[in-house]
Amino acid sequence: MKDQFGRTIDYMRVSVTDRCNLRCIYCMPPGGVAFVPHEEILTFDEIARVCRVGAELGIAKIKLTGGEPLVRKGLPQLVGMLKEIPGIEQVTLTTNGTLLRGQINELVSNGLDSVNISIDTLDAEQYREVTRGGNVRDVLAGLDAAAAFPNLGVKVNCVPLQGAGNGEYIRLALLAKEGKADVRFIEMMPIGMGKDFAGKSGEEICSLLEDEFGTPYRHEGVLGNGPAVYMQFPGFKKRIGFISAVSHQFCDRCNRVRLTSEGYLKLCLQYESGTDLKALLRGGAIDKELRDAMERMITVKPACHQFGTAKEESPADWGNNHLETKGMSGIGG
Ligand code: SAM
Ligand code: SF4
Repeated sequence: MKDQFGRTIDYMRVSVTDRCNLRCIYCMPPGGVAFVPHEEILTFDEIARVCRVGAELGIAKIKLTGGEPLVRKGLPQLVGMLKEIPGIEQVTLTTNGTLLRGQINELVSNGLDSVNISIDTLDAEQYREVTRGGNVRDVLAGLDAAAAFPNLGVKVNCVPLQGAGNGEYIRLALLAKEGKADVRFIEMMPIGMGKDFAGKSGEEICSLLEDEFGTPYRHEGVLGNGPAVYMQFPGFKKRIGFISAVSHQFCDRCNRVRLTSEGYLKLCLQYESGTDLKALLRGGAIDKELRDAMERMITVKPACHQFGTAKEESPADWGNNHLETKGMSGIGG
């Protein structure tokens, strides 16, 4: 369906949990956050129902995220349930990759279309520091296992931090040169704990890679469901992508809404605006009521975020769009 600005909304990011087995420094405090009690988290049947009604409104692609989606028991079964919904063309996953190796066969056999694996650094010590205890070897085992499936899309996502050595980003880019995965660099967004960290811009990383690998050309074809701009570097088997939400706003092309693990339909990363679908689901609403609520909300999706602008400092100017107070793991990044 289209929103009030004529944008086609066909993509929903579905958070299946706010819990995580890592504590990335820009995403979660060391002791974790106060997790939502299990009974407040949508069941798989409830998630599938929202996706089915969403599909009737034109949602065709679902991304499972969290928290860490693979800590939720039985996630491959959810993939299978969503793939059976008429109109759902793609079910994909974003994961930190630590538990991927043990689950990839079942995920793929249930129809997973592609996986994004977050790796901010390949250096074991730095990885341990950034994730507060994670082991990058587990992630690389997951990446290798995923890359072995020829029909599974595999991408690596990195959020580059100001102050980290540039060599790290060159090493990560080599994964694309070797053909293991498309590698995407995502600008740090001022959300949750991310507000306290400075990231590197897409342009900084691109010029660093250009010095090392030569001049790239822009890949014009459509790759994936998001706003990444892809570059093809000389001799690379796969692409390098840049998601530069802060330095180059792409809200005019936004195609997505989000469903939090608690069943809140969220319209834009930066604002709280949305609606509590769990109240409808558990209050006996029929599908038409659910569909009407989703349709009403999607229609009034805000025009754009205000990251990095003077307006961000004065939320009073934002009318009904209240600033999101949850961190990325609670929203479903
Ligand atoms: N746990 C999974 C993972 O790490 O991929 C899925 C959820 S995590 C919130 C999804 C992505 O959001 C990760 O790639 C993470 O690096 C990114 N992220 C978290 N906080 C961010 C921020 N403030 N700005 C940009 N990306 C952020
Ligand atoms: Fe967990 Fe992903 Fe947040 Fe890291 S970025 S703490 S892996 S939810």
